[in-house]
Parts: sequence; structure tokens; C-alpha cells
Amino acid sequence: MRTCSVCDREYPRAEPWRCSCGEPLDYATQPLPDGRPGKFSRTSGVWDFAEFLPMDERVSLGEGWTPLVDAPEWNATFKLEYLHPTGSFKDRGAATVIAEALEVGADRVLEDSSGNAGLAVASYAARAGLDAEIYVPASAKDAKVRRIERTGADVVPVEGSREAVTDACIDAVESGVGWYASHAWNPAFFAGTATAAYEIAAQRDWNVPDVVVTPLGHGTLFLGLYRGFRALEQAGWTDTIPRILGTQAVGYSPIADEDGSGSDDGAANDLADGIHIRDPPRGRQIRHAIDETDGAAVAVSAAATARERDRLGAAGFHVEPTCATATAALTQFRERGELQDGDDVVVALTGRND
Ligand SMILES: [Zn+2]
Repeated sequence: MRTCSVCDREYPRAEPWRCSCGEPLDYATQPLPDGRPGKFSRTSGVWDFAEFLPMDERVSLGEGWTPLVDAPEWNATFKLEYLHPTGSFKDRGAATVIAEALEVGADRVLEDSSGNAGLAVASYAARAGLDAEIYVPASAKDAKVRRIERTGADVVPVEGSREAVTDACIDAVESGVGWYASHAWNPAFFAGTATAAYEIAAQRDWNVPDVVVTPLGHGTLFLGLYRGFRALEQAGWTDTIPRILGTQAVGYSPIADEDGSGSDDGAANDLADGIHIRDPPRGRQIRHAIDETDGAAVAVSAAATARERDRLGAAGFHVEPTCATATAALTQFRERGELQDGDDVVVALTGRND
């Protein structure tokens, strides 16, 4: 069963892909484990946390259990999400959304993406023996598109804005071409990204950090972290929920702008193309998570992103520009008083594919 958090309508598990009121759907209940955490094998990927996951089918390419590494130059700890099999945290959600596709009997999955989510969904679909059709901007980087094609997925290039790509994919879903494995809309994807929170807590012996920082576009990781830390607290495995801070790209910063922390100085941040989202479908949920955790969002410029990508590379962290916004923003958050020097901070380094 899935429900709409805005109008409370209820739907069966497989469809529709969104509520008739236009809002995204979520699972009616969050599964929670009985008792205290046991030992984890660390060999089952996200399925080590199956007790928190709402599906019985399993698909894995060895995602999860990414390292948590001390980064003294940033006065933070980094969660190396870019070390995932296909190069980004999206593998967590791809594992669970493709497991859900098996569970509801889908045989063709559709996704629209600027790169990382498309590659993750295509790869996990291939692993599960499902057909995949990935809608990408015609301007998408060749290397990313080639990687998606190599999985056997059908790639559909769409001219125009990022929104035009989503619209083309949704038209195909609504005309019955396949099942929407969306990293923005499908609740199964967010059940998977929540495992980042379970891991961070497990790797710290169930002590949660004060603050977690992540890039923020559709909120795929941002909301996954919020939901994951909330589930841990509900299960009694942890005592608190960290503050969750999001970083957006200047020119694409609906959440930061509302927060009064958007930046109108300088041009749009075209480097951070993984978070070029002007109207996230789960915007209402993102704002709620910010309110609930005393979180915040800021917009990061292209210049700061480029500088920080180079600084990360010089320190041995080889990431794509989008995730450099997260460490670039640490200075902004500290200047604004959102972060204190003594805070215990985890930053998600989300992707490696350039
Ligand atoms: Zn609704």
C-alpha cells in the first residue's frame, strides 16, 4: 500500500506513479526491526538492512558500506559514496527500486536522468534481467551516455531543458511503455538511499553525527538520510536525528532561495549539473525535513565548485563537480553560523563520474 502525504489517498503498490493530486506517493508504513542491532555481514549490500526495507526481492551489485574517512582539512568526515559500483550513491536506490520492479512484476523500467541515476538504474536492471529505457538530455556528457548504452539499455536523448527530459519520460510512462523507476518520484528509491543513514550510524557505533551535509537537487539522498535517521530513532537504535544541510547550485536553488540563502551574485552554476533542479517534486518533503531537523540549504557558485573540486582532488578525493558543492558550502555554513567549529560533521561525497 502507498499513500499521499498531502491528501491521504491510498493506492495499491504497483501504480499509479503519483497521486491524482499531483504529489509523490510513499509507502504507508516504514518497516522497523525488533530489538537491538546485531552484527552485519557487510557482504549483502543494502540488503544488510533488509529489516528496514519494504520489499522482499533483492538485487545487488555490491553497493553500500562505503568508507567513512577522516578529512581534517575540512574539519569533517567524508562518506565516500562515489566508490559505489556505478560511481554514485544512486546505486543504493537503484538496488531497491529494481527489487521493487521485480516485486510488482514490471518487465521494462523507465528513468530520466542527467547521468548518474540513469546509469545506476540501467545497471541494476541489467543485473535483474529487466529492460531499461533511459531519457537523458541531448547535451549529456558522452562518457556517461556510453556507459548507460553499454548496459544494453535504450537511451532516449531529449532536446531542451532538464524538465523537458522528465516530461518526455513521463509521457512514455503514461502511455504504458513501462514502469517509472524514478529517483525523484518512486518511494522504493528513497527506501534505498535511506541505507546511507543506517551505515553512517553503524560505522560510528550507533552514535549519529551532529550534522550531515549533502548536495540537494531532487533530494534523493537528502530525504533518504532524513528518513533513515528517523527510522533508526523510531527503532530505538539511535537517540537523535542529525541536522541535515543541503547544497544547491546557484541558478537552480529553489530551497536555498526560500531560506533566504540563495545567491544572486554571478552566473548560474553550470558545473554542478547533477543538481540542476528548479522544481523538485518532493520540495514540500524537503522543506519539512529542514524544519524538523533544524536544517538549512545554501546555493554554491560555479567558481567555488571548481575550486573545491580541485582541492578535493589534491587531497585524493576524485569526485565530480556536483558533489564538490557539499564541501564548498562548509565555509558558507560556518560563516552563517549554521555550523559550529566543534560540530561533528559528515559530508557525503556523492559521485565520481565526470
Ligand atoms: Zn494526493
